Amino acid sequence: MNIALIAHDRKKKDIVTLAVAYKRILQEHTLYATGTTGKRIIEATNLKVHRFKSGPLGGDQQIGAYISDDKMDMVIFLRDPLTSQPHEPDVTALIRLSDVYEIPLATNLGTAEILLRGLKEGFVDWRKYKGNKGES
Ligand code: PGA
Repeated sequence: MNIALIAHDRKKKDIVTLAVAYKRILQEHTLYATGTTGKRIIEATNLKVHRFKSGPLGGDQQIGAYISDDKMDMVIFLRDPLTSQPHEPDVTALIRLSDVYEIPLATNLGTAEILLRGLKEGFVDWRKYKGNKGES
């Protein structure tokens, strides 16, 4: 699976904690991250992570492009709901694209854990939904 990891500044510590706790699972997948998030995860875990640009400089949009090219299977996006972001339109667009392409998206730690555990169990293959673009 191709997994994208993104965290706003006040959530960076959380995503590092998550990556450390789930390193064994994450290392079996191909990981992508926005610039600073990726750097922090690599420093803490030594996991192999492909780093896009920093979020405010277009990293969210690069991940969105991967989603629309069918190259992303899961997004963990620990966004900060209490701080306004200069790239809010990019954040909204990434969340929207995840829904357009039926890509599981976690925006907080609890959901992120459930998704990662689901990955471990392999109990649901959501990729069957990926072709569904809402047409009836
Ligand atoms: P960053 O970007 O990982 O480069 O900080 C995340 C974001 O703000 O979307």
